[in-house]
Amino acid sequence: MNPTVLIVDDDPALLEALPEALRLRMADLAVETCDSAPDAVARIAVEDYDAIVTDIKMPGMDGLALLDEIQKLRPETPTILITGHGEHDLAVQALRRGAYDYIQKPIDRDYFTASLSRAIEKRGLARRIELQRLELERHSHVLEHVGDGVFVVDRDGVVQFWNLAAEQITGIGLEEAVGKRADELLGGWEDVSASIPVAGPGRPKRHLARMLPFEIDGRELWLSLLGVDVADATVYSFQDRTDERVLDKLRDDFVATASHELRTPLAAIYGAAKTLRRRDALDDEGVEHLMGIISSESERLARVVEDILFASHLDSGRPRFAAAPVDVRALVSDVIESMQLQLENGVTLRVEAPPNGLPDVAADPIRLRRVLLNLLENAIKYSPEGGPVVLRVAPGDNRRLRLQVRDEGLGIPRGEQERIFEKFYRADPQLARGVGGTGLGLYICRELVQRMGGEIQVESEPGKGSTFTVELPVPAALATR
Ligand code: ADP
Repeated sequence: MNPTVLIVDDDPALLEALPEALRLRMADLAVETCDSAPDAVARIAVEDYDAIVTDIKMPGMDGLALLDEIQKLRPETPTILITGHGEHDLAVQALRRGAYDYIQKPIDRDYFTASLSRAIEKRGLARRIELQRLELERHSHVLEHVGDGVFVVDRDGVVQFWNLAAEQITGIGLEEAVGKRADELLGGWEDVSASIPVAGPGRPKRHLARMLPFEIDGRELWLSLLGVDVADATVYSFQDRTDERVLDKLRDDFVATASHELRTPLAAIYGAAKTLRRRDALDDEGVEHLMGIISSESERLARVVEDILFASHLDSGRPRFAAAPVDVRALVSDVIESMQLQLENGVTLRVEAPPNGLPDVAADPIRLRRVLLNLLENAIKYSPEGGPVVLRVAPGDNRRLRLQVRDEGLGIPRGEQERIFEKFYRADPQLARGVGGTGLGLYICRELVQRMGGEIQVESEPGKGSTFTVELPVPAALATR
């Protein structure tokens, strides 16, 4: 668009001559004229001129008063005042009040044109800067609200921008982040930043984000990152993939444990079967022993497979359980009887129950049996130094029945006590001293107990032992039995 200027003067001769002179010297210029200040104010209110030229002396509202109005309405518009010869003081006053320049009469056309050109150029530049600022504001508004974390790191490694998602993912606020070095904020940045794929001039075209670990506030976060080089900085965008990573790791751990868990009994069965084939070298007792190994190891094998299948069955839907009145006392003695065979390392097993007055619970007897077996097996398994294991049954609060399995074994560190109920989670397998397991037992227990309308909890002190407590509802109809 061509620049447009407004000339304000009460002298009709000048109002004709000035535009004429300008048109000769500035071909692209559009010139509008106006013979009074109030008239000019009305026009300036609706039109954003590139520059305004006004006589300083006019009847009624003069040039200085008009300048004040322009400063209010269009502070960005450069204004040139025309002063009479020798009116130096007025000119200075005008400059002080914000005029861009002044021209003395008689007007030197060349000087006037040069000054006006500069004024128009200045206005154009200010407009472009304003546009760029708006554009930047728009971009940063978009970046501020995209779902991915976005941050900008300058050539000195200092963070210059940090959006809302970055704040939400990392927990590091904008104020804290901007001005800090990226390696101070994201632990490990120094080592891995060079491996983040960055697009830009002279860089390969196609990129896939890279998943990398960072330590932030003592937490490990896995971020999938990608960068773009801009003038003097790199813009990084990222997503939080920590959950995925945790799942991946769980799956890897599970494959490792499950194959180990399958291989051990298989090897024992294989060994026993091979020895059995050489019957001549065995007496009856030896045969019996080997048959015993085959039988118990096959059972263990079947249980591992069953646990895996059952866990995936639990995940795939919400199987409904039959809730029938269960005689807890009978169930408990049955469970204890089958556990007696598995006692090892001098572990003893005892039941504590009130002599009478135990209500039936509404439960699925097969599932409840499985929960108790699992808790008792763990109590024995994680008591490598031996010690008593107690199964305690007692009425709980609020019409509930409480079943507790207590051991004096390894115990569970506080930080692990919630996690042991997670699928495949095994508290420090090294610490469990080579004790086998799939990490599914407690997961299955919790799922089953919850589906029977109950709760399971653990209290434990490392080195002293653990108590697992299951509480099950006693329906009103059964409570009095
Ligand atoms: P698994 O025994 O197959 O590893 P579980 O889900 O039954 O899996 O248990 C999860 C983890 O909880 C175990 O790996 C173990 O570290 C811990 N744990 C369970 N029961 C006990 C217990 N009675 N004493 C100490 N640690 C236990």
